[in-house]
Amino acid sequence: MSLTKTFHIQTFGCQMNERDSETLAGMLTDMGYEEQEVRNDADIVIINTCSVREHADERFFGTLGQLKKIKEQRPEFIVALCGCMMQQQHIIDRVKTKFPWVDVIFGTHNIHEFPKLISALASEKERQVDVWEDGGEIVEGLPSKRKFSFKSFVNIMYGCNNFCTYCIVPFTRGRERSRRPEEILREVKALVDDGVKEVTLLGQNVNSYCGMDDAENEVTFPQLLYMLNDIEGLERIRFMTSHPKDLSPELVQAFADCEKICNHIHLPVQAGSDEILKRMNRHYTSARYLKLVDSIRAVRPGIAISTDIIVGFPGETEEDFEQTLDLCRKVGFDSAFTFIYSVRKGTPAEKYEDQVPEEVKHERFTRLVDVVNESAAARNAAMVGKVCDVLVEGSSKHGQEGMLCGRTSGFKLVDFPGDESLTGTIVKVEITEGKTFSLRGQIAE
Ligand code: SF4
Repeated sequence: MSLTKTFHIQTFGCQMNERDSETLAGMLTDMGYEEQEVRNDADIVIINTCSVREHADERFFGTLGQLKKIKEQRPEFIVALCGCMMQQQHIIDRVKTKFPWVDVIFGTHNIHEFPKLISALASEKERQVDVWEDGGEIVEGLPSKRKFSFKSFVNIMYGCNNFCTYCIVPFTRGRERSRRPEEILREVKALVDDGVKEVTLLGQNVNSYCGMDDAENEVTFPQLLYMLNDIEGLERIRFMTSHPKDLSPELVQAFADCEKICNHIHLPVQAGSDEILKRMNRHYTSARYLKLVDSIRAVRPGIAISTDIIVGFPGETEEDFEQTLDLCRKVGFDSAFTFIYSVRKGTPAEKYEDQVPEEVKHERFTRLVDVVNESAAARNAAMVGKVCDVLVEGSSKHGQEGMLCGRTSGFKLVDFPGDESLTGTIVKVEITEGKTFSLRGQIAE
C-alpha cells in the first residue's frame, strides 16, 4: 500500500473551473499528493462547484450527501469545496448547517490560499472557511497540472462587468480584471516549450480584454492575438467566450490576418428577439448579431459558428421564440448549447413576474433543438470529401478499437482509424461522413 497521500478533484461547470482545477491539482502535486482516479479512495476530495444552472446545485448537494459515508469510515478524509457556489452566502450557510463533514470552504478569488487552508486545518483541527468577496490583485505563477500534454487553457482575464439579467457570474467571479500581456505571453511560450500545440484563451468576455503592458500602454484583445500568433511552435489559438456587443472590427481583421486563430468562433446569441435581448441586458439586436456573423464569414468563409441559446426567458412569447428559430435558420449554426431558462437566486431576472410555464419551455426547447440539429447535420454533411487538419486527442470516445478522435480547426470532433501513437500530433484526415454531432474520416494519403 502506498504511503503517498492522494487527491481527487470533481469539477462542475465551465472551462474557467476546469482551469482552476488544474491549478489546484498543481498545488497539491507540489504538496506531495498524487492524483487518485477513484474519488472515494482519495485522502482529499475537492468539489469545484458551478452555479450557472439550477440542476448543477442539485447534483452538488447529492454529491455532498454521498461523501458523508466515507467520512464516517475514514475520519481523516478531507472534503474541500470551492467554485462559484461558494461565493453565495446562502449556499455557505446551508453547507455549514447541513453538511458538518465538510472541512474546507474557499471561493473563486483565493484558490492560491488552498495550501494554507489545508495546513490550518491540520494544525487547528477545525473547519476552515475563507471566501473573499473581491478578486484583488491577480496572482501569477501558480503551479498547474494539465489534463492534456498537447493543449491547454490559458486564462487571460477574470470576472465580468456585464450583468446579463439571468446570470450569477458577475456576483460570483467579481469585476473584470485582465492579466498583463507579458504574463500571458510568458505562460504560452512555456507551454509551447513543454509540447503544447493549441491554447484556448479563457475569459467570461475575452473581447473586453484590456491588459497593461510594461510601458503601461493598453493592449486590446485583437492586439494580444497578433502577439500570440507570432509565437514560434504554437499552432492553434482558440478563445472563449466572445460577447457580441464587444466584438470589434479589429477582431474580425485578426481572423483575416492571424493564421493560427482557429476556424471557429463561439458567439452566444441567447435569443433572437430584440425585446428579450433587451430584458436580458445583452446590448445588441438580432440584426447586429447577423451583421457580425456576415463580417466574420466575409474574412473566413468556412468558419464554424457555435452559440448558446436560452429558451423560456421570462416574458418570452411565441412570437419572440419564433424570432429565435428564425435567427438560427439564418445563421445555420454548427452547434449550439441550448438551455431551458431556470431562475438563479440573486439575479435580476429572479424578480421578473412573467415566468414562462414549464411545459411551454419544454415544448419550445424541443423545437429549437430540431432546428439547431438540422443545421449542424447540414454543416457537417458539407464537409464530406474535404481534407482537414486534425489535432489527435487519443482513442475514440465511442469505444471502438483502433479508432482515434481529434478536433478540426473548426472544433469538430472526428473519429478515424489510426494508431494511438499519433495522439498530440496534427494529421490530415479526409472526411467520409458527416453526422449531427461529429464527423468520421480516414487519414489522407
Ligand atoms: S457576459 Fe453575461 S452571461 Fe456572460 S458571464 Fe457576463 S453576465 Fe454572465
